[in-house]
Amino acid sequence: GVRRMRPFGTTIFAEMSALAVRTGAVNLGQGFPDTDGPPEMLEAAAEALRTGHNQYPPGPGIPALRAAVAEHQRRFWGLAYDPDGEVLVTAGATEAVAATILGLCEPGDEVVCFEPYYDSYAASIALAGAVRRPVTLRPSAGGRYGFDPDELRAAFGPRTRLVLLNSPHNPTGKVFTRAELAQVAELCQEYGAYAVTDEVYEHLVFSDAADVHVPLATLPGMRERTVRISSAGKTFSCTGWKVGWASGPAELVTAVTRVKQFLTYVNGAPFQPAVAVALGLPDSYYEGFRAGLEARRDQLVAGLGDAGFRVLPSEGTYFVTTDITPLGGTDGMEFCRTLPERCGVAAVPTEVFYDDPEAGKRLVRFAFCKRPEVIDEAVRRLRG
Ligand code: PMP
Ligand code: GLN
Repeated sequence: GVRRMRPFGTTIFAEMSALAVRTGAVNLGQGFPDTDGPPEMLEAAAEALRTGHNQYPPGPGIPALRAAVAEHQRRFWGLAYDPDGEVLVTAGATEAVAATILGLCEPGDEVVCFEPYYDSYAASIALAGAVRRPVTLRPSAGGRYGFDPDELRAAFGPRTRLVLLNSPHNPTGKVFTRAELAQVAELCQEYGAYAVTDEVYEHLVFSDAADVHVPLATLPGMRERTVRISSAGKTFSCTGWKVGWASGPAELVTAVTRVKQFLTYVNGAPFQPAVAVALGLPDSYYEGFRAGLEARRDQLVAGLGDAGFRVLPSEGTYFVTTDITPLGGTDGMEFCRTLPERCGVAAVPTEVFYDDPEAGKRLVRFAFCKRPEVIDEAVRRLRG
């Protein structure tokens, strides 16, 4: 394969899920729910299949879904996007991120991102021939992840094209506060950079988080320079459907569309009307979803603590990170490669999400998007 993709082997999710299957381990590695999403949504997809929505949908996505995506952002975040021209349906957030980077970056342009970062970011940046400039998130004494404002400033320069920001953040569970986002916004404007926000966990911010979810695009001066990305996978427990979207000013969405049309052209015809139905569900759905995940976070956090891990605070997402030092662990990768055999549980080493593997060497991520009895069983095995 090409040199620029050589550093990217098999994704850690594929490796650890395969290991879990091979060993019969409880899989708390890859983040996917083990229950289905809302029945109204599932029924709408089945109905779409039965009633002939099985051919290429329109390039930017079906009108009903684009309208629902725009309405959802107005309803929850007060953001106004024109469904015609400012919303693009993609093959998951993954494609939206890739098409946005490919559509906005020239080779040699720099992308500021926070590490640890979701693994597709580095690959998408490399595909574009761009260069990543990571800013490291580190746990404070209390455990909450933060960044050094001077390091953030130092990551910006004349070649900065965009900032790629994920909040709520995978793998740390950090929710960026309005004050932290304001620092990012100020630098974006100072350097004339775009912002690309991955908000797939926008509805998973827990009651003890340092802030509510604040889309970066809602900060002054940011809507006009931000491509806002999300996806149905997490919010509606349908990670296998791969329906995502990008929203932003028409000029930016046009640049993303230009790439998307040649990556996949379109995607998932029968899933699109179903996701439109899901986005319109009442607030009680979203609140129940959030509360359910918060309870399972609490359950797993307590169990991991009992099993001897140092558990770092998770304010949102599907994930919690742990420090394995109290268990005598010094290398998260080694720990995760042997955990399924030793204990019958699979997890993901956080070090793979850093450019500097030393930075996350002793951190291991667990997913709690599982049924309570599955989390119980995992905890029982970890306590051994
Ligand atoms: N971004 C983040 C931060 C994620 O955790 C994930 C994976 N769940 C994705 C993007 C990918 O989302 P999708 O499955 O919609 O492509
Ligand atoms: N986003 C999920 C995770 O972080 C899985 C994504 C994947 O398998 N690529 O675990």
